[in-house]
Amino acid sequence: MSIDLVSSAKELGLKYFLISYTDLFGAQRAKLVPASAIGGMVKAGASFAGFATWLDMTPAHPDLFAVPDPDSLIQLPWKPEVGWLAADLWMDGKEVEQGPRNTLKRVVAALKADGYELKTGVECEFFLVTPDGKSISDAADGQEKPCYDQSALMRRYDVITEICDAMLALGWKPYQNDHEDANGQFEMNWHYDSAIVTADRHSFFKFMAKSVAEKHGFRATFMPKPFANLTGSGCHAHVSLWKGDENLFEDPDGELGVSALAYQFIGGLINAADAVCAITNPTVNSYKRINAPRTVSGATWAPNTVTYSGNNRTHMIRIPEAGRFEFRLPDGAANPYLLQAAIAAAGLDGIREKRDPGKRLDINMYTDGHTVADAKRLPLNLLDALRALEKSTVLKAGLGAELIESYLKLRHTDWNAYSRHLTEWERESTLDC
Ligand SMILES: [Mg+2]
Repeated sequence: MSIDLVSSAKELGLKYFLISYTDLFGAQRAKLVPASAIGGMVKAGASFAGFATWLDMTPAHPDLFAVPDPDSLIQLPWKPEVGWLAADLWMDGKEVEQGPRNTLKRVVAALKADGYELKTGVECEFFLVTPDGKSISDAADGQEKPCYDQSALMRRYDVITEICDAMLALGWKPYQNDHEDANGQFEMNWHYDSAIVTADRHSFFKFMAKSVAEKHGFRATFMPKPFANLTGSGCHAHVSLWKGDENLFEDPDGELGVSALAYQFIGGLINAADAVCAITNPTVNSYKRINAPRTVSGATWAPNTVTYSGNNRTHMIRIPEAGRFEFRLPDGAANPYLLQAAIAAAGLDGIREKRDPGKRLDINMYTDGHTVADAKRLPLNLLDALRALEKSTVLKAGLGAELIESYLKLRHTDWNAYSRHLTEWERESTLDC
């Protein structure tokens, strides 16, 4: 039963609604709608000029309508008179194929048709930096190994607990917060849920972290590698498939307590990893997190190879315990909806094609990776990943050809803009050639 937004506005004292959608680059776009107008908006949607955002549209396209999903309603913890709503995109009476949330809903429906419910949790890492974005916000946070630094965590107590208190009140079941492996970096964890709920919460979390940080005079960034010498920000995803209350990835007789179905799902991700990378690691900067040299803390925490392991953090996929696996490839720039959709599409293909993930590797991939001659490497840059996505029949079939075509077109424009950019490094290394 869907929430009635007109009565919710009265009950919660909402004066405005933010009708929000996420475009292909993960940017959140919204209209601020007075509560008196929500009754009409919930049926017809809020209208936008689609071409003005990253959706691969032109001014010749008709109005784009963002139709809010009433069940996604969140009262802004830092501005309680506003209700946030995630929206699906419609145009000319049809769902927009390249809408990220629409796409995730399509893939989730395909999984459901085969009898599966995808549940995921995401580990959002971010930096608190100065408002100009140039340095971390805490000059005293300078330890060489800053992971779990108690004092640095407590110096940002007011920001972290404001966000955590909000998650508690929203019923997300947050369970831990810490200072991460880079100076200025934090991670906050809340309970996993079905893929669409997690994607909506992931979007909202980014919005909330940025808004609360700003209130405290800082800036929260999810940029994958904001500082070359420090560990980057990942967005590890924990994945399991369910049928009702039964976790289909759990099998006491399976290797590491994981079922044959889970290994097929992993096989699907391993098979499509280079193309998935274009979605889960979507920016030029993303490739400075993966394939990175050792950071000052001693490790990058990001994978370099398309390999899987048990409870070992040097591979793309880690099986930490029975019943789930962790996909360590995605980063902070990943579109929350497309991240889930890409995992679901690659995994579903793995199940349908009964893909073999190959042999589990238990070695330290950072130090002994060279001993595995046939380990597939991850793309070295965005262009390689985009080319892999271009060739991926799995993701085209899973996410839809229109979504892939639009995504590739926009990301290639992004890559071309980067290629034309003259860097200081080029000047220094080439001036005297
Ligand atoms: Mg982490």
